[in-house]
Amino acid sequence: MTSTPLALTGGAPVASEPYPAPWLGPAEIGDEEIEAVSAVLRSKKIFRFHDLADSQCARLERLFSEMTGCPYSLAVGGGTAALICGLVGLGIGDGDEVIIPGHTYIASASATLIVGAIPVLAEIDESLNLDPNDIEARITSRTRAIMPVHMRGVPCRMDAILDVAKRRNLLVIEDCSQACGGSYHGKPLGSFGDVGCFSLQQYKVITAGEGGILVTRDKQVFDRAAIRHDSAMCYWRPEESSVRPFPGENFRMNEMEGALGVVQFGRMKSILARLRAIKRRILTSLADCRGIRFQEVPDPEGDCAVNVAFFLADAETAMWFAKALRAEGLPAGSVYDKGIPDRHVYPYWECVMEKLSSDRHGRPWTSPLHDGTRAYAKDMLPRTLEILGRCVVIPLSQTYSERHVDWIIEGVRKVAEAAPQAGGATG
Ligand SMILES: *Cc1c(COP(=O)(O)O)cnc(C)c1O
Repeated sequence: MTSTPLALTGGAPVASEPYPAPWLGPAEIGDEEIEAVSAVLRSKKIFRFHDLADSQCARLERLFSEMTGCPYSLAVGGGTAALICGLVGLGIGDGDEVIIPGHTYIASASATLIVGAIPVLAEIDESLNLDPNDIEARITSRTRAIMPVHMRGVPCRMDAILDVAKRRNLLVIEDCSQACGGSYHGKPLGSFGDVGCFSLQQYKVITAGEGGILVTRDKQVFDRAAIRHDSAMCYWRPEESSVRPFPGENFRMNEMEGALGVVQFGRMKSILARLRAIKRRILTSLADCRGIRFQEVPDPEGDCAVNVAFFLADAETAMWFAKALRAEGLPAGSVYDKGIPDRHVYPYWECVMEKLSSDRHGRPWTSPLHDGTRAYAKDMLPRTLEILGRCVVIPLSQTYSERHVDWIIEGVRKVAEAAPQAGGATG
């Protein structure tokens, strides 16, 4: 009741040192990475198909196959490229619809549009991921696939999603960009869908600088994805493909990225173990903290634990709470106080909201195979906006010290204790 005044109102902040940037893989970059990339440069073999028997990219692909149990794995230039190749691998394109959550990185929508398909938006639930109960109502005669996205390392409710997919005969493409190394009931993320896609960009669990990986159990899906990733694929490995070549692009990964990815892959277990220990300590210590309710995590064991998220009564209180935490010196944010359009929330996807296109005919929106009457609006997913609005997120890094973690616990408790009065006073 009479605890120290909030930093927001002139009290001393809880944290007496700044937090390191909430980096995951990149924070670990050290001599091993430098040596591995240097070795590629010294070899002068930077193209992955130069030496098929000795390729860093192929090594990285084998690691992802081992992790997911999916025999086919393809390294590409990024997570978006993995999604594009995955959709093409599944034969999804013009005239098809893909159900995606309203809370995901814009790339999930872009990749769908790039292959000529239309993204159909669905609500999230308090796991901050696709609500399995909002899928069926979105299905039309054009729906081909569901794209669950394991946002911020938290696994989707895959049992329920797979159940709908099976009953309604839909394909599943898992976006694991933010959840590399995560699992759901003991099974690795990426192995549930017909295709699983990972990103190795700077802000993900592990990094290759840029990069993405696609995994699948289906040789035909893999071959199609591989052709899309490289128009010359059939010439590099002519005997291996089961499909006739169609036009591809150049989404190849290079050997420097491959080498960096291989070293980072080796660090993944340790990064996740440290993140999970930090999150467990925070959740346990704050279990009795009044006024906040934590994000629903469908399988805490499989959570990558890259952040702690909790809900307040409403968006106004959440904004105030995040501001108060920042005043205490903690890293914290809510969706409406970033000061920038948050590309992880659908109203900011102009290309979808306004049906924008790169060509003068307005494809794919204007394709005669699509439902031209489909409309989008910034308020079309009220539940998603409502849930995200009252959510506060604290990003975690395995580099946080004991003190950094203690301050999060102390700061959240301090702000939560002051919240009702102060929130009321400012509201
Ligand atoms: C990062 C991300 C992507 C795209 O990955 P890139 O490597 O940046 O192309 C796709 N989906 C989600 C959910 C992401 O977080």
